[in-house]
Amino acid sequence: MKSRQIQLEKLNQEMLACTKCALRKGCTQVVPGAGSADAKIMFIGEAPGQKEDETGVPFVGAAGKFLNEMLETIALKRDDVYIANVCKCRPPNNRDPLPEEVATCWPWLLEQIKIIKPKLIVTLGRHSMERFLPGFKISEVHGKAMRREIEGMGKQVFYTLYHPAAALYNGGMREILIKDFKKIPKIIAKIEREEKN
Ligand code: URA
Repeated sequence: MKSRQIQLEKLNQEMLACTKCALRKGCTQVVPGAGSADAKIMFIGEAPGQKEDETGVPFVGAAGKFLNEMLETIALKRDDVYIANVCKCRPPNNRDPLPEEVATCWPWLLEQIKIIKPKLIVTLGRHSMERFLPGFKISEVHGKAMRREIEGMGKQVFYTLYHPAAALYNGGMREILIKDFKKIPKIIAKIEREEKN
């Protein structure tokens, strides 16, 4: 059995050549994801923005800096987690990804999740939440861990957060996001306790 790192590198190489939807024509490069293939936590955002499109790395702009700061508050570095998006290519003018774009990109994300097998998937923002928890309202489910069965994935624990970009300049949302973020270590500890039982 190849290591997760090798499997992930191979998958991400294949992803770089993807032309399955029109987004690829309008962006600079595919942004597969970054971090540890053995991560316990996978953060999943929406789609690359301008900085991510330029560098090929997810969450490196203003929202990414905020994400890094929040990771530090729970004693984690980016290399300890895995960070990806539901869409791997930048939508024109940073518009929201369309449902069909999310659907076309889904097999890539699904494979990433199956290789990494995170204990916890943290969705960042509404579009990411909707991929896994359709029909929920982010204002109602943020900060709550939920175990759900997803087709092709089996049972998985999800934790919904507001998107760091949305919270960046909104004081109230920022406070909520920081508070929700700080609960992550307790959620992981609970999952690990349950695994032992
Ligand atoms: N916002 C996202 O959702 N993803 C990124 O990679 C950057 C900003």
